[in-house]
Amino acid sequence: MKTDCIFCKITEGKIPSVKIWEDSDFFAFLDINPVNYGHTLLIPKKHYERMEDTPEDILKKIFVKAKVLMEKVKNGTKADYITLSIVGLDVPHFHIHLIPRYFNDGLATFWPTKKYELKKDTEIAKKIIGK
Ligand SMILES: [Zn+2]
Repeated sequence: MKTDCIFCKITEGKIPSVKIWEDSDFFAFLDINPVNYGHTLLIPKKHYERMEDTPEDILKKIFVKAKVLMEKVKNGTKADYITLSIVGLDVPHFHIHLIPRYFNDGLATFWPTKKYELKKDTEIAKKIIGK
């Protein structure tokens, strides 16, 4: 628990939320600013700032929970599909967005994209791979 973390306060009930589901390790609740109604956030109860700070056993479990919740959110909202998102720049307590999507909801299906200049893709790949 991090005392100045809004999501830690939510898991402890110090800030109200509309709970969707919880167990001993995880908590799921409605985003107060939904992309579409039913937009759910799934978080570990223990505070980890970013995905890369989160232990592997928690990551394995949270993605299995996300899969189960995807079906519940999809069924409950009659969504056509669910988008999972880990934004990384919003609340610094690792969380997964589960966003109900509809084929005609008018939202982007993906981010705006770029084209690689000649050979830039292999340069970037080498930097990522570390060669
Ligand atoms: Zn927290």
